[in-house]
Amino acid sequence: MSTFDLILRGGIVVTPEGTLIADLGVCEGKIVALQSSLSGTAAEEIDATGLHVFPGLIDAHVHFNEPGRAHWEGMATGSWALAAGGGTMFFDMPLNAHPPTCDGASFDLKLAAAQKNSLTDFAFWGGLVPGNLDHLEELAGRGVIGFKAFMANSGIEDFSRADDQTLREGMKRAAGLHLPVAVHAESESLTNRLAAEKLAAGKISARDYLDSRPVAAELEAIRRAIELAGETGCALHVVHVSNSEGVALIAAARKSGVDVSCETCPHYLTLTEEDVETLGAVAKCAPPLRTPAIQDALWQSLFQGDISTVGSDHSPAPPEMKTDRNFFKIWGGISGVQHTLPLLFEGRERAGFSLPQVAKLTSLNVAGRFRLPKTKGRIAVDADADLALMDLSQRFTVRAGDLFYQHKQGPYLGRTLTGRTVRTILRGSTIFKDGKIVGTNHGQLIKPV
Ligand SMILES: [Zn+2]
Repeated sequence: MSTFDLILRGGIVVTPEGTLIADLGVCEGKIVALQSSLSGTAAEEIDATGLHVFPGLIDAHVHFNEPGRAHWEGMATGSWALAAGGGTMFFDMPLNAHPPTCDGASFDLKLAAAQKNSLTDFAFWGGLVPGNLDHLEELAGRGVIGFKAFMANSGIEDFSRADDQTLREGMKRAAGLHLPVAVHAESESLTNRLAAEKLAAGKISARDYLDSRPVAAELEAIRRAIELAGETGCALHVVHVSNSEGVALIAAARKSGVDVSCETCPHYLTLTEEDVETLGAVAKCAPPLRTPAIQDALWQSLFQGDISTVGSDHSPAPPEMKTDRNFFKIWGGISGVQHTLPLLFEGRERAGFSLPQVAKLTSLNVAGRFRLPKTKGRIAVDADADLALMDLSQRFTVRAGDLFYQHKQGPYLGRTLTGRTVRTILRGSTIFKDGKIVGTNHGQLIKPV
């Protein structure tokens, strides 16, 4: 009779192909058996009857801001919140850490912080900014997942916008290093001009801010990024696309042979312009939230499979940076890393969206697009036992006291969601259970292969 470290019995296992009721056997952090009824004993047995077992969520887009701005979030609270939402790995953006992750030395500082403080596994994006082209290779050597560039002002002084020349040359080098470039795609010239017009007229409301960042600004930048990717042969990932027209440009380019993918975020799927006007600062982001009609079309893009990944773009800041009479001056960024799965489950009420699709968008596709080791992003024999046990029969209301964020704010407070995280398992060890963090910080750096 076999013996295991852990047996998970009777859960509804969610794979990209469908769901099945099965037992999982785990040894030394890895799944070693996956079958309908497992005989054998284990040091620990978990009855998962009635629970959905998802591959641990991999959030490819967070800003935990450590080192340098750990008072905005930090690796500890950020990774706790991720785990509380069924997440087992995050990709941290190069900003708003200070120094931003734009060379080898800053990577080393971030790595030391994450090894000390992260509950979950992690990977890092390197920055692509004017002046750091000669550091891309050393960042690749240390294991970054890719390079992130801003086509519009990033909002922070230590991470500059990549002009077209920097972007073109950066893409060339990234292609040579076999790494993707991720872009924040909004037109600097258009958003700048519209914002200047508003401010000159004394228009400083949330509505004015929304009007200064139209869909057209995204489309212009997406077109340009696609052109540069085609020209340089670089793999391109457009982050936080807010609308289906942008997704359609990307899907068409992909069909014509450009290596391009895109991400959207739960807030574009579950919040609208109206929420910006009623909730205020906690719902400010760029690109901004859109109309209900644009949101419906974005769900359609998701159903059709034209969006590869869903990342939270969790980007908090201290409360004092979230208040100003002038909405343009308020720090933008939405806190949401704890609720990606239940927010996506809202799509189940819209025809055609399935749980296997959720697993693809939050695990398998992320692992595939960013060339993670085969042990990540799936529930299969030989994979890491990174698992999220979700109770889809439970509804809960988001309360400040349940948030693991350093700053207990966000646009989902008071919202009732379906699908509670019962337990999160990282490499066979429980790190979150019944509302509490139970693991120790033993996250590892995962490099692309
Ligand atoms: Zn971001």
